[in-house]
Amino acid sequence: MLDSSAIEDFRQDTRAWLAANCPKGVRGPGESPWGSSKIPLDRDSAVWLERMAEKGWTVPTWPQIYGGAALHRELYPVLVTELKRIQARTPLTGRGVNYIGPTILELGTDAQKERWLPGIARGEGGWAMGYSEPGAGSDLASLSCQAVLEGDHYRINGSKIWTSDAMHCDYIFVLVRTAPDRAKHEGISLLLVDMHQDAVKVNPIQLLSGASPFNETFFDNALARADDVIGGVNNGWTVGKRLLQFERSTHAGINTSGSQGGRDSASSLPQLVRAYATDGKINGPLRRRLLNHQINHHAQRLTQRRVIAETATRAPGFASSAVKLSNALTTQEGDEILISAMGTQGVGWTGEGFQTNELDATRDWLKQKSLTIAGGTKEVQLNIIAKRVLGLPD
Ligand SMILES: Cc1cc2nc3c(=O)[nH]c(=O)nc-3n(C[C@H](O)[C@H](O)[C@H](O)COP(=O)(O)OP(=O)(O)OC[C@H]3O[C@@H](n4cnc5c(N)ncnc54)[C@H](O)[C@@H]3O)c2cc1C
Repeated sequence: MLDSSAIEDFRQDTRAWLAANCPKGVRGPGESPWGSSKIPLDRDSAVWLERMAEKGWTVPTWPQIYGGAALHRELYPVLVTELKRIQARTPLTGRGVNYIGPTILELGTDAQKERWLPGIARGEGGWAMGYSEPGAGSDLASLSCQAVLEGDHYRINGSKIWTSDAMHCDYIFVLVRTAPDRAKHEGISLLLVDMHQDAVKVNPIQLLSGASPFNETFFDNALARADDVIGGVNNGWTVGKRLLQFERSTHAGINTSGSQGGRDSASSLPQLVRAYATDGKINGPLRRRLLNHQINHHAQRLTQRRVIAETATRAPGFASSAVKLSNALTTQEGDEILISAMGTQGVGWTGEGFQTNELDATRDWLKQKSLTIAGGTKEVQLNIIAKRVLGLPD
């Protein structure tokens, strides 16, 4: 345990460093970079990323040799609090620093760590996630995308679906079948694939909204280096599940790999709701609902802090499912409350009758319904909690 003066000194040093080095343009709402070479960064985001990477604070808890700052686990929350205090955006986010990076750090060989981690820490390359297939979503172990070893490389054939951001990605980590003759959980490997090859094709899936954040990704004789299997050949089910815990803990706000900045939108909810209340007063069932939500939200924040304090690695195991689920449900309830309070102003998609913040609220409400699907559905998390946390029978 660190003594309180060491923590306070770190807080003061961090505050001073952030005041001097965090550009104004990355404070407040906005997008954070996630490493894609295809999305140009504005000047302030680029400066912020470079300074934080230099300091080791894009991945503060990683060892210094891999681009981190080896930050003590008691100091990590202080850094995050100081970033949030000035509403500094996360300098680098995404599947590199949050999902595949910590997986390589935990389960990769030394050579794999040296090859991949420093670049991930500097945001050199955006990562896609190749897990789901048309026939393998919740039942992920039914996947059929296949990789065959040919000398020093694998030849990959098959397809993935719902690959978020794949059109902007440089790399993809893929769960592939490497031993089709073995039982379904035993013949899978996690493989890193360079997307800059003609044999990897990305086909956008257009949503009802007109946007295409998802893709189908096709591998037609795509190649990957044989030494880019993470965690051992045919051990991909174990490795892939651990990566999912990093994903779920990111959704849950308890992944301590990256430096999570930004701001806490739920704390402004009462003010937003009040703007739609008669005479500025929130009464009746809406008031009770809002109070319950604020209590749940506060409990959620305390739980996140407790889990971070109790977890020895960069993310907990099965607890990530519980916190992911409760975080998603609390967020969705906050959205529902705001939309209820907004009345007809909460059902606009475009048009002059709506203010920008109203259209944003409606879009957030709809978008965040995906929080109980992405990274494993609500029912899948409940199954994991029942079996692995509560020990209930299958
Ligand atoms: C925003 C978003 C981003 C995504 N990004 C990616 C990505 O980048 N890469 C990627 O690989 N995938 C991605 N996905 C896909 C996501 O992982 C899958 O949608 C999810 O795992 C569910 O699979 P499915 O869609 O095939 O649904 P299904 O598995 O077909 O499930 C349909 C319904 O049946 C329920 N169900 C299924 N099995 C059980 C069971 N055993 N017990 C109880 N209920 C069950 C589910 O809970 C769900 O309600 C993304 C999804 C979303 C929404």
